[in-house]
Parts: sequence; structure tokens; C-alpha cells
Amino acid sequence: MELTQIKGLGMKTCEKLDKLGIKDIKSLLTFYPFRYNIIKRSNLKEVKNNEQITIDGIIESIPSIFYFKGKKDKMNFKLNTGFKTFNIVIFNRGFLKNKLTIGTEITVVGKIDKIKSIIVVSDLYFGKIDKERIEPVYHATFGLSNKQIRKYINSTVNLGYEIDDYIPTFISQKYHLLNKSEAIRHLHNPVDEIKLKQSIKRTKYEELFVYMLKMNYLKQSKKIDHGLKRDISYDKVEQFIDDLPFELTRDQIKSVEEIYKDLTEDMRMNRLLQGDVGSGKTIVAFITMYINYLGGYQSALMAPTEILAQQHYQNSKELFKKYNIDIALLTGKTKPKEKKEIYEKLKNGTIDFIIGTHALFTDDVIYKNLGLVITDEQHRFGVNQRSNLKNKGTTPDILYMSATPIPRTYALTLYGDMDVSNIKTLPSGKKQIITTLKTEKEIKDVLTSMYNELKQRHQIYVVAPLIEESDKIDLKNVYDLEEKFNKAFGKICNIDILHGKMKPSEKEEVMQKFKENKINILISTTVIEVGVDVKNATMMVIFDAERFGLSALHQLRGRVGRNNLQSYCILISNYEKERLNVLTKTNDGFKVSEEDFLLRGSGDIFGLRQSGDMIFKMADLKQDFNILLKAKEDSEYLLKNLTKIDPKEQQKYLNLITKTTNLD
Ligand code: ADP
Ligand code: MG
Repeated sequence: MELTQIKGLGMKTCEKLDKLGIKDIKSLLTFYPFRYNIIKRSNLKEVKNNEQITIDGIIESIPSIFYFKGKKDKMNFKLNTGFKTFNIVIFNRGFLKNKLTIGTEITVVGKIDKIKSIIVVSDLYFGKIDKERIEPVYHATFGLSNKQIRKYINSTVNLGYEIDDYIPTFISQKYHLLNKSEAIRHLHNPVDEIKLKQSIKRTKYEELFVYMLKMNYLKQSKKIDHGLKRDISYDKVEQFIDDLPFELTRDQIKSVEEIYKDLTEDMRMNRLLQGDVGSGKTIVAFITMYINYLGGYQSALMAPTEILAQQHYQNSKELFKKYNIDIALLTGKTKPKEKKEIYEKLKNGTIDFIIGTHALFTDDVIYKNLGLVITDEQHRFGVNQRSNLKNKGTTPDILYMSATPIPRTYALTLYGDMDVSNIKTLPSGKKQIITTLKTEKEIKDVLTSMYNELKQRHQIYVVAPLIEESDKIDLKNVYDLEEKFNKAFGKICNIDILHGKMKPSEKEEVMQKFKENKINILISTTVIEVGVDVKNATMMVIFDAERFGLSALHQLRGRVGRNNLQSYCILISNYEKERLNVLTKTNDGFKVSEEDFLLRGSGDIFGLRQSGDMIFKMADLKQDFNILLKAKEDSEYLLKNLTKIDPKEQQKYLNLITKTTNLD
């Protein structure tokens, strides 16, 4: 069944859904609510100031509405709850104005200011609270409302659908798990808390089980893999290193040695190179490619984004200009004609290094003798995309790079199939980024600091959390900030914006201009990519910092301090001072990630939650670590006994694991 077959779903809506990552029935059904509102009347006498409450009442005044720039709005009206009349403030529900007439009964969920009798509402439902019920809340963005998403999902659920259940019967019996379609129904239409909890548990289990099944399969198949054995003397590598414009750090050298050993031995390399932002992983990757080149093989380097791929391409061109190495860039943006040429040259072996994005994965790409695959910012790719490169005959060695170190116990479980090299020391001469925490009241200090950098012709990143998250209220969006900064600095410098709703080509253009120092202040949502290297940028200002995980903030601040200039990071927040202070005290990504794990769970470790490319939709590595351990054990058992189960079932699992881990 296609998405467009669902009632009320036209092409336009499908496009919007696509932006949320919903491309088919399966991804629609597994677009789970990110939280639930339990609609139960709060006891106003008991709730504390600033707490979340749920209350019903009758509208007493005609809503007044105020429109901001960028399609944002704010509505105010009075709500009589029988006990007291409250002033309601609600953002971006202007479209409801005509329905919110005097006398209408509604239920609101929001934060209460008891002193001023204000409720800042995040969710609004029509009707009074009769009996307790549970309302799912979806991440509604891109012009789709929570209600719409819910409607589409429910039509699908009611129509009936087919979706693979990956929990084997013997396991669901062992743990008394709900079956998949039942769970999906409860997740989107919860009737009671018990069933909801059971549904969440089974969904988490399935995600972790599937992940571990793939992982264990990878591990198993690696054991029997023979790799390429290159015959190269280390002298040549040393020569290359001596020729570099800078001296490698101890850990960089150690990593190179470990990799050299892998590449010159019979076993296949399957290595994770972990190192904090700015620790210099890229050069290690290039040296790895050089060793592979000396061995006579082609190398592929894959980055998660266009901008990063380009950056790697340019850097490698520069680094290898004295060598007779053929380097090409292949991304989604490469023109068809050029693409064809590149395919040809990859097939006949002319190209030595190919650098690109997912485009390196497509079926058209065939290599003559691919010996090495490197993926940058590994955590951005799921296990699914790990290594699907089509190759002729050889089994390439694999190197993954990641700037988001995860604590050891988790790493061992998750990346259990890999060897790990760590770069812990930062290149010498690098100054620590000075991080400070400011409240919004102290914005003047922030502006002064910014001015100091601008005076020196340095560049600044300003980050504001996502625009258009329906339930997130009172956030400065990039447009607001643009206006404000234009007032402050518009006369002396160029300010531009970057956000997720822009077209890739527009983003690219802005980023390029920033790189060329044609933009002095870049205001953006979190789309500024991990790994982007603009050496002249010395300040990172982050608004509403409490909305980010520490690791995400650490990643963001890693955008500055890219050379020997003193760099700064200013976190602006009125909340969560203690947590954010971790960052003012340390620049060590490993420590930050440990803290993050303790405080928030795994979501943030694997990148920004907002970016939508999380490994798991529901499971959380920290919270659900016990489920993960069970899933690990069970998946090992299933793999061992795969031949003993029903042939049809067997085929399902074979499809699952081989489809995603194809290495030939
Ligand atoms: P990351 O590990 O975050 O990918 P990069 O590889 O982008 O970091 O390196 C960050 C910056 O540090 C780059 O500009 C790179 O040229 C520089 N760099 C890397 N290694 C060294 C070194 N040993 N000495 C000085 N600068 C280095
Ligand atoms: Mg990098």
C-alpha cells in the first residue's frame, strides 16, 4: 500500500511527511509519539509554581492574536476553570482562533505561573475532562499538526496493514510480549497505561533485538573474513608523516601504527577511530588512504553531508598535491555527466581516492579494486548503511571515525565487533575553548564579547534551537535573532541565517560564504554540520542551551577553536545551570559524554535528537541497557539456531541481516 492511498493524504501532505522521514506505511506507523499527555485534572491547590498542569474550563474572552515574523503567532485568552480564571498564552495555534469562541469548553496542558495566574499552554484539546485518558504527542513540524499526523496514522491502523514482526515467537512467549500490530495500535491510541507500557517495552525490545542481530551477524561474518595483506614498509609512511606541515600528536601516531598493522596483516580491518572534535582524525584517515594507495588499492571516504565531503575533498587535494594521486568527489550534487565519468573511472581503476556522501553507496558505483572504506562521523549512519559498497572481488578494510565517544561498557556492546583507536590528546598549540554560561538578562555581556571578536575580523556562530516545534514554546527562532543582531551589528558586519528548511543548495551557498569570510555572523539551527572547519570562527553563542544534551553542545562548540586563535563558547540559558556548568569546567569530550549518559540517556550521545537520524526510534541505550543485554543474548541464540526454525521465518531474518550488511 502506498501513502497516497490513505484517506486525506495528497501529494502535498506526502511531501511534508517526507521531511519528517515518513516515506511509506512502515515509517508512518513507526513514527511514534515522542511523549504522552495523561489527561487527568490537576489539583490546583497542590501544583507548585511553574509546574506542568492539566486543567479544563470555559473560554471567557475572545482570543487576541499576535503574529511574528516567520509564520509564528501567539494567542491570549481567559479560561475560567471554575476555581479560578487564568490567562492563557499559546504559541502557533492561530489557526484555531475561530474555534476558540466564548463559552467553548477546552482542556489545556501547560506550565502554570501561579503568581500571575498565567498558563503557558503546550497542548490544547476540545472538551472537558470526563475520565482519565492518554493523548499521544507527536513531533509535529513542517506544517503538520499533531492532530493531522494522528489522523493519518489511525486511518492506516484501521485500514489494516502488513508489517514485519521481528521478534521470534519463542522470545515473545518467553517475555510475554504483545504482538507488533497490537503494540502499534496501543502506541498510537493508548487505552490505558499498562497496555501502553507493555507496547513501549516490546517496541524497544524489537529495536534492540534487530540491532543486535545485525551486529552479531557482522561480528560472526568478520571472523571468517580474510582481508587484504599489503606489503609496504613503514619507512614510506614515516616519510609521508615527516612531510606534513605539522607534527602529529602521540595518539595520532599510535592510531596510524595500529591501522598500518591492520592493513599489512591478513585479518580484515574493522576499526573505530574515536577522538574528540578537533583532535585531528581526518589526517589519520588520509594517511590510512595513503597506505592503501601504496598497496595499490582504491579508497572511499564517506561523509554524512555534502559540506563535509567537500571539505575533505579540498583538504585531500591540498595535502596530496605533490603526489600522483587521482582524487574525485561524488555526491548527490554531482552532475549526471560527471557522475558517469566518475563511475567509469572507478570501474577501470583510474580514481585512487573517492570522497563523497551516500552517493558512494548507490548500485551504479562499482569499484575496480576497493581496498578501504572510511566513514566519517560514524554515529550518523545506522548499522544499515555501514558498508554496502559494491566491489569486485576484494573485501575492503573498514575504518569508522566518530567524534562522539560513548562510554566503554556501551561501546563494547554496541560496537562489539570493532577494534578501537583513541585520540585523546589535542594537537599542541590548540587553546582550550573558554566556555561561559550567561542568563538572558546578561545579553549585554554577550554582545560585548561578540563585538570584541568582530573587531578582530573573527567570525561567530549563533545557534538557536529548532524553529517550528509545535510544543516548544517561547523560543527565539533564527528570524528573531537575525533581526536583533542586525540591530546590534548590522552596520559593521554581514549576518546571515541557516536552517533545516532551506534547500540543500541554499545551505551550501551560505556555508560557502561563511567559509570565505563573507558572512561574519552565522545564525543557525543545529544544521551547522559536525566537522565543518572554519578556522577564522572564534565564537559560538548558543541560545536556550538547556534544550541540548551536553554532548550536542560539546559538538557545537567544537566548531570553534579550529586553530591557534583563542576561542569562546557562550551558553545562554536561564535554566539547568548545574548541568550546563559541566561544559564550563571541561573541554574533554569523553568526560562530557559520561556526564551526559548519567544525566540524560543515550539520545544525545548519538547526535542531536532533533536531527531525526537516531539509531533507535524508541529505545534508549542507557535507560534500556538491561533490555539491550537481553536482546544481545537472545539474538546470539537466534543466530546459532537459525537453521532450526521455520523456513519462512528463517528467510525473514536472513533478509534482514544480509540486506543490511552486504559486503561483496
Ligand atoms: P576532527 O577530529 O574533529 O575531525 P580535524 O581532523 O578536522 O578534527 O582536525 C582539526 C584541525 O586540526 C584541522 O584543521 C587539522 O588540520 C588540524 N590538525 C590535525 N592534526 C594536527 C596536528 N597534529 N597539529 C596541528 N594541527 C592539526
Ligand atoms: Mg572530522
